[in-house]
Amino acid sequence: MNRTFSLIVALFIMGYTGAVGQSQAQQVATSRVKDTTNTIDQVTLNSILDKNKQFFKQGKVADYIPELGKANPQSIAISVVNSNGRVVSAGDVQQKFTIQSISKIIALMIAVQENGEASVFEKMGYFGTDKPFNHFGNLETMGKPLNPMMNAGAILTTALIKGKGEEAFTKILKMIRFITKNEEIDYSHTVYNSERETGHRNRGMFYIMRNSGLIDGDGEDKLNNYFKQCSIEITVEDLAKIGYFFANHCIRYDGDNKYYDPNLSQLIQSQMLIAGMYEFSGEYARTVGLPSKSGVGGGITVSVPRKMGIAVFSPALDQHGNSLAGYHMILDLVKTKHLSLFD
Ligand code: GLN
Repeated sequence: MNRTFSLIVALFIMGYTGAVGQSQAQQVATSRVKDTTNTIDQVTLNSILDKNKQFFKQGKVADYIPELGKANPQSIAISVVNSNGRVVSAGDVQQKFTIQSISKIIALMIAVQENGEASVFEKMGYFGTDKPFNHFGNLETMGKPLNPMMNAGAILTTALIKGKGEEAFTKILKMIRFITKNEEIDYSHTVYNSERETGHRNRGMFYIMRNSGLIDGDGEDKLNNYFKQCSIEITVEDLAKIGYFFANHCIRYDGDNKYYDPNLSQLIQSQMLIAGMYEFSGEYARTVGLPSKSGVGGGITVSVPRKMGIAVFSPALDQHGNSLAGYHMILDLVKTKHLSLFD
């Protein structure tokens, strides 16, 4: 009898504290949500840039594409497109740099729009990777690229965009101009030539995929489209607008919803999360926890789902080919503002 009574008391206390615990958790959750929807201001960006700019010293500008080696390692910039579409930026905001691998998410968008997701992913995997971006992955073993974020998958993605000659590239350029609302964006002919003349590893992947029938046609037009898309020049603000677009169901920062597609933005963000930073993606998911895509030009674009777009630029890279000071600025901002998906 006594025992039953104490059991009831214990259950009552547990239920009560449980209820209190739950409401506290809800309060914490609400305050975090408030924090993340807070707009990021100029003062915050200035201080984040200042605190992290010295990291360029530990990185190295990419020079395997000779033209990229000419970048100033001290250039640095950060930009945010807030939930309301307002842009705030700090540093070398006018500095143009090549988009490089970040173009892969745009190519993926167009390839899926034109062919459907099933048809694209029949030819490549959804896999994450422990391999660098230019690794052949399991092209030789399984006969298919690991994912559309590594070079092999990206070369194939672009080859799947319909049209002759330069058309696939032109579609990518137009989409970037639309998303950024910047008609002046174009590609750098010198970087393009530099990539085409030295990109023999990419050429190797292209020919393996031609050999296995994944890519059809003749000549190197389809490969050249990939080199051209990588050579598109943008600024950090353009890049933040790209991050915003995929964070917000493919709605542009000014509210234009011509390409509204939650299913597509979900697919692209999931690939950014698992492979956008190549073999560093797992560690990056642990520390930053947001879909992001880097390029060897020194840019990184970040999507904060349903909220904002963030971009950074600093051409000195770490051993994985990701901007080093850029990574540290993102990390700092994400921690300060509790932006991680897993926060
Ligand atoms: N154009 C570069 C290459 O093909 C893109 C690589 C990158 O940005 N990670 O090597």
